[in-house]
Amino acid sequence: MSAKPLLQARGLIKTFGALVATNNLNLEVHPGEIHALIGPNGAGKSTLVAQLAGELPPNSGRILFDGADVTAADIPARVAAGLVRSFQITSIFPQFSALTNVAMAVQARAGHSFRFWKAAGTDPRLVDPAMALLDQVGLGSLAGTPAGEMAYGEQRQLEIAMALATRPRLLLLDEPLAGMGREDALAIIELLRSLRGSYTILLIEHDMDAVFSLADTITVLVYGKAIATGRPDEIRANPEVQQAYLGQEAHPREVQHA
Ligand code: ADP
Ligand code: MG
Repeated sequence: MSAKPLLQARGLIKTFGALVATNNLNLEVHPGEIHALIGPNGAGKSTLVAQLAGELPPNSGRILFDGADVTAADIPARVAAGLVRSFQITSIFPQFSALTNVAMAVQARAGHSFRFWKAAGTDPRLVDPAMALLDQVGLGSLAGTPAGEMAYGEQRQLEIAMALATRPRLLLLDEPLAGMGREDALAIIELLRSLRGSYTILLIEHDMDAVFSLADTITVLVYGKAIATGRPDEIRANPEVQQAYLGQEAHPREVQHA
């Protein structure tokens, strides 16, 4: 990819006592790509996302977002810049309808220009974009359903709609398929596929079928180090990756494109 990276981590180090969870890590996420981060349990994927999201300070190294140094920026500043982890800003209110929940997330983005939050479910300036987002994630027919009455997978779809309502420039998703049955997982995978090209996403996921069919770029993390970055076919063919990670579970050559 030729465009300037949207996100860069440079020489990032994070230790927990004697444990080096992020070990001099470099990462570049380019605009418009789905960039998957894979690696064994304990490789440091969530720790990296926490540093990118502003939840954990690195010991050293730098995080650049759209060229600006955000290493010391707090969570609200990163969210305002568009560096957003799903579920970070808004959580579902189970008693409110799906539509009102998304309308409230639209309102959170709009900030002080909408003071009367109770009107979120009726104000067309909030409801219209919220409805469009529900349609986009495939929940249009459930707009009036209280979120708490929706199925588990539907609630996860709703959370993605709420994250999109904040207009992220980079969406961080840490295991969005966790705890789901196959059918719900497939719905989320299709949703992510529909976002491909329109959003920039850093995706942590254990489901290798999902990763290899969705990602434009894959970075492999082992013991806090990025051992390889490349297109799915490059990662699949990389002997070091096979040795370090993929060989333990599904053999990479067995991973099929959807
Ligand atoms: P992954 O998400 O790849 O499974 P994590 O980032 O959760 O890995 O964890 C990386 C390593 O850091 C693991 O060894 C984990 O036990 C350790 N770790 C993560 N968070 C903490 C913490 N808050 N305190 C101490 N150790 C931690
Ligand atoms: Mg994790």
